[in-house]
Amino acid sequence: MSILINPTTGEELDHSPASATPEEADAAIARAHDAFPAWRDVAPGERARLLRAFAAIVDDHLEELAQLEVLNAGHTIGNARWEAGNVRDCLNYYSAAPERLFGRQIPVAGGTDVTFHEPLGVVGIIVPWNFPMPIAAWGFAPALAAGNTVVLKPAELTPLTAIRIGELAVEAGLPEGVLTIIPGKGSVVGERFVTHPLVRKVCFTGSTGVGKRIMAGCAEQVKRVTLELGGKSANIVFADTDVAAAAASAPGAVFDNAGQDCCARSRILVQRSAYDEFVGRLETAVRSFRVVDPSDEQSQMGPMVSSGQRDSVQAYIDDASVAFTGSAPDGPGWWLPPTVVESRDTSEAVWREEVFGPVVAVMAFDDEDEAVALANDSDYGLSGSIFTSDVGRALRVARRVEAGNLSVNSHSSVRYWTPFGGYKQSGLGRELGPDAPNAFTEEKNVFIAH
Ligand code: NAP
Ligand code: MG
Repeated sequence: MSILINPTTGEELDHSPASATPEEADAAIARAHDAFPAWRDVAPGERARLLRAFAAIVDDHLEELAQLEVLNAGHTIGNARWEAGNVRDCLNYYSAAPERLFGRQIPVAGGTDVTFHEPLGVVGIIVPWNFPMPIAAWGFAPALAAGNTVVLKPAELTPLTAIRIGELAVEAGLPEGVLTIIPGKGSVVGERFVTHPLVRKVCFTGSTGVGKRIMAGCAEQVKRVTLELGGKSANIVFADTDVAAAAASAPGAVFDNAGQDCCARSRILVQRSAYDEFVGRLETAVRSFRVVDPSDEQSQMGPMVSSGQRDSVQAYIDDASVAFTGSAPDGPGWWLPPTVVESRDTSEAVWREEVFGPVVAVMAFDDEDEAVALANDSDYGLSGSIFTSDVGRALRVARRVEAGNLSVNSHSSVRYWTPFGGYKQSGLGRELGPDAPNAFTEEKNVFIAH
């Protein structure tokens, strides 16, 4: 058992769930395997109805789930409500998939050719601590809709909302074994998803290092794998944009969730002629960013998830030349202030590495080619933003930046109905959007001779 801590206060929580042993993980996987044939054979309309019932019961418990996330992960209450609502929305969206898992009829000589999308069996989902609810739902909602059963391992630090959502699934009428939450260590439960032959696909979100090991492990059985890994996304600000608006929105794009976001725009590239104005306005915006108790309705940023994560981010700050910071509470809890670094050298760790905390590095560029080259000078390629009033430039740059999720004159990148995923070492495969259920199926081709 690992003791859970409230990141806002540093105090132990009353209840910490037991970590599953390898034997318990195996037993849960076996039960999910046993539950699979019946779940696969539930009529499409009935599976759809059950997913909508699951969504409704999540909605009924939205406030409870949100409060649990504030307590366990230190998320702001506003974010936590959005996150619980995102679980509901993913379930509702993919509840329309069972009746729409279309195959094709392909013209052939001498017969009829049809394709089917068939579920894989047991899907193992490994979730990190930064967005415990949404990342779980992005996996289980389309996987269940496509007729798979799911075993899900939450992060050791943040298991509480996933455990509650698992209970709500049963209350909604999903049969036992269809969605099983298995709290435990990555090296035990997560590892078992990779090595157990009855788990047919692993969906992993987390660090690039662990993701590479999971991909290598899955290769042993040619196991299907989806990876959502780290990022070092660029926010590119051209001088022709509304500089005030770009500067006002930049803090939220990196300090939301205390920077513990794979899509954080943690590098800001600013065209040189607008650089001084942008940095001046950014300072004003950062100083007024409200870093307070996350249960305060006005809070824009809470603490780091753990003392370990705070220490790892602090080490980057210690090595960087800080231009200015915002504020953070003193006293207990794992707090850091929003921190802005002016970078002049692309070899600096704070420029290259995923800090995963409230730290942003700003650098000047001269022209479009240099902006694109700087943005692409990264092993990662998850997301990014482009601020310009020139629509041709917006499209040119959007096509040239090597990243899976870009936004123009905004920082939004994740909608459950649009695809999400990374280029390069930010990941493999896509989640969300209309095609996600297909990623949890095999396409079968059948030829019938006339
Ligand atoms: P992590 O180690 O990659 O953990 C993510 C998930 O994988 C957790 O559930 C973890 O379990 C599990 N895991 C760990 N080792 C495993 C293994 N050998 N086999 C199977 N599963 C395993 O990430 P972290 O340590 O929490 O965070 C470290 C860094 O990763 C962060 O600073 C950040 O840079 C990056 N990160 C990225 C994202 C993202 O959304 N892309 C999310 C979180 C973290 P445990 O709970 O037992 O560790
Ligand atoms: Mg780890």
